[in-house]
Amino acid sequence: VSRFEGVPMAPPDPILGVSEAFKADKNDLKLNLGVGAYRTEELQPYVLNVVKKAEKLMLEKGDNKEYLPIEGLAAFNKATAELLLGADNPVIKQGLVATIQSLSGTGSLRLAAAFIQRYFPEAKVIISSPTWGNHKNIFNDARVPWSEYRYYDPKTVGLDFEGMIADIEAAPEGSFVLLHGCAHNPTGIDPTPEQWEKIADVIQEKKHMPFFDVAYQGFASGSLDEDAFSVRLFVKRGMEVFVAQSYSKNLGLYSERIGAINVVCSAPDVADRVKSQLKRLARPMYSNPPIHGARIVANVVGDLTMFGEWKQEMEEMAGRIKNVRQKLYDSLSAKDQSGKDWSFILRQIGMFSYTGLNKAQSDNMTDKWHVYMTKDGRISLAGLSLAKCDYLADAIIDSFH
Ligand code: PMP
Repeated sequence: VSRFEGVPMAPPDPILGVSEAFKADKNDLKLNLGVGAYRTEELQPYVLNVVKKAEKLMLEKGDNKEYLPIEGLAAFNKATAELLLGADNPVIKQGLVATIQSLSGTGSLRLAAAFIQRYFPEAKVIISSPTWGNHKNIFNDARVPWSEYRYYDPKTVGLDFEGMIADIEAAPEGSFVLLHGCAHNPTGIDPTPEQWEKIADVIQEKKHMPFFDVAYQGFASGSLDEDAFSVRLFVKRGMEVFVAQSYSKNLGLYSERIGAINVVCSAPDVADRVKSQLKRLARPMYSNPPIHGARIVANVVGDLTMFGEWKQEMEEMAGRIKNVRQKLYDSLSAKDQSGKDWSFILRQIGMFSYTGLNKAQSDNMTDKWHVYMTKDGRISLAGLSLAKCDYLADAIIDSFH
């Protein structure tokens, strides 16, 4: 008899489990709109040309594989903070930013969660309802209590701004407020610049700590600066801010696990202390981060030509998603006889569309139409081609009615 008799089967992950089910489906019509990974119009994975170029240069240079320091590659940490905040941001010049390279967005969030658990044991995190499925796992695992603030309004398929503000206001003073920097996942609904100002007001009044998750910088609008608007607004107000960053989507480095946690502090010695504690937390967890993706980012951002090439490819990726979004809207509007207003699809931004399909309807999408998606009604437009929009529209209309 096994010593593991007491170990029950864990449930499949609600997002990654969708890919497993997709693989097992033998039908030719099948479509994987579950995981948020960019595909070409031919629905193939895409390695950016600028990444291939950077890798070739790295190989030619013959870089070694020595350990990185706990905080990661210095050139990467500099590049990533500058990309996020703008190279000439005073907080960088004044040494107010503690940046640690970590294991992509997820690992960066997890490290910050460990930091919160250790140094703010009384604080809770408030997260949007709904949010990316892994946020709750991350804070649960780090034993950080969390609750939700209102975000999505099913009536308008838009932002419940009043609810959001009221809930942030009602949270205990000093709470951590988790915010999606841009391209909210799963809804694709972002606050307007004026709404961001109001959100910052309330957070400041309540002495909350803003905690941004930036997984899509440059990927939402096609512009790195535009997508960093929210974070920079808070920083400009002199607020202390946490920001987790990921290069999975914008540089297509999903499996390289490259990202960072940045903490903008009010004084240089505070930043030094915070950084030292982040390193102390990372050391027993994974010792030091992987070098390959860090070098790619540092090389691309640090070279004017390659930086330009990256921006262009990012615009192309964002543009393809926008085209698919438009085409899906057109197909739905043309085919649907019910008079339903589909324009919410055009108001959403980023790689996802939140369709409003409930769980049973999402099951119909998969069981009858072989369209794989998360059960919250989210579809990844990055996994959709122009050629498949009509088919998807038929599936959605059938599932709604
Ligand atoms: N946050 C959000 C909101 C995301 O959508 C994702 C990617 N799905 C991540 C963080 C982190 O992804 P990764 O760990 O691959 O960087």
